[in-house]
Amino acid sequence: MAESEIPAIAVLSYGRWIGLCPTDANAMLLEPGQTRFECGSPGPFGADGTTCDVRWPPNPDEIALAMIGLPIEDQNWTPVYYFGEALLSVDATIGSDVAP
Ligand SMILES: [Zn+2]
Repeated sequence: MAESEIPAIAVLSYGRWIGLCPTDANAMLLEPGQTRFECGSPGPFGADGTTCDVRWPPNPDEIALAMIGLPIEDQNWTPVYYFGEALLSVDATIGSDVAP
């Protein structure tokens, strides 16, 4: 298990917050307000046990509330910075409604 300086980005997927592992393609369920990420134990989905901080949007409750009433498969939110730190401000506070 290794610590990563790159945080796990919190995204809303099907109405649940998940953290994207910074070093592989794994994602783990997050509890609201959870500050630490631990990738699952190595297994069939490529989990590597990485630990790191979680990078939440500043307004996760607001984002989740805005999704209420939508079909569960449409309750998705990914921050703008996920798509390219070089192109967009790191401190994007508004984010994006673009699905992953
Ligand atoms: Zn991982």
